[in-house]
Amino acid sequence: MDMSIAQDLSADAYSARLVIDLDALADNYRRLAAEAAPAETSAVVKADAYGVGADRVAPVLYSAGCRSFFVAHLQEAANLRPHLPRDATLYILNGLQPGAETYAAANGFVPVLNSLEQVAAWRRAAGALHRDLPALLQFDTGMSRLGLSPEETARLLAEPDLLSGLSIRYIMSHLACADDSESPENDAQFAVMRERVAQFPGIPLCFANSGGIFFDKSFHGALVRPGVALYGVTPSDRAASPMKSVVRLEAKVIQTRIVPAGTKVGYSASFIAPVEMELATIAVGYADGLPRCLSNRGAAYFGATRLPIVGRVSMDSIIIDVSALPQGTLTLGSLVEIIGAHQSLDDVAADAGTIAYEILTSLGHRYRRDYINNSKSGESA
Ligand SMILES: *Cc1c(COP(=O)(O)O)cnc(C)c1O
Repeated sequence: MDMSIAQDLSADAYSARLVIDLDALADNYRRLAAEAAPAETSAVVKADAYGVGADRVAPVLYSAGCRSFFVAHLQEAANLRPHLPRDATLYILNGLQPGAETYAAANGFVPVLNSLEQVAAWRRAAGALHRDLPALLQFDTGMSRLGLSPEETARLLAEPDLLSGLSIRYIMSHLACADDSESPENDAQFAVMRERVAQFPGIPLCFANSGGIFFDKSFHGALVRPGVALYGVTPSDRAASPMKSVVRLEAKVIQTRIVPAGTKVGYSASFIAPVEMELATIAVGYADGLPRCLSNRGAAYFGATRLPIVGRVSMDSIIIDVSALPQGTLTLGSLVEIIGAHQSLDDVAADAGTIAYEILTSLGHRYRRDYINNSKSGESA
């Protein structure tokens, strides 16, 4: 249990509650692993497991069979290490900052090497330690973000000694358009990667993210790297979502009022009641990860009833129009759904003009966080 003060309050005292279903998470891992088999399925747990809580999520994934974990930063690997058994490997997607090599090697972290500079620095660390050091080698196949350029690749092929002292476990690349199975970029990137596979014979391929797992099986290589699909987000446009939803967010009503036509609502009076309305103020705001661009756009749900957001999203609260419900249905302490059965993460993201990744990784830390259905320990909430 998270040791924040909120957890010490009685179960009723919270004003918003984030429920994280660990069984759904484990099921999602197994679903992806079955899809990717015989490739190994890793888990991307960067950004605190996409905001869901890496220290809680990673051990559950380990129990579901995962042994390879990807984070973005060295600090994330250091934070996560104590929560995983020794036979779990932590890979660092962004590679290492110059000077961090010795620390990373001492802790057994495996960096993704994204440039010849990083290759050289990791080799120097291996030399100093008098042992081979493991790494992944990333190639840029068309995203221009991280990885060896075609020029660097040519140099490496001309001077294979640049890799001596390193044990390259996988060659990898990352899809730029995995959310669009029809995009020609996917095949174009894969064509470059097939060339790399031929150029570095015997080194297995690590290529597909969540979306790529649902492409042709040839995209899987030997190790797949799903992130967002683990947390319940639709991985690709191709399939009706095969993933189970993992997070549910509920907020409490902290005040209700009936206002006459013409009443101004929220900051900057951006909404004026066109008719008499019943409004409810709920206890989540942009400081809790509901973007301010949901002002006058998104909604909460009570049962199947959509309750539109009216006025600006405030830092700590949002006002919703509850007139669609019989008057007085919602009272102080009533719970409304922000993310759940009636409104998915994808729906909230669409209302906010963003992607579910951003909504997930922005989820705040003021909620009561309940981790439920951890069948591994039998713990519930
Ligand atoms: C974040 C990330 C992933 C996971 O991507 P999803 O779309 O969340 O599955 C995989 N590989 C790399 C290099 C990443 O940066």
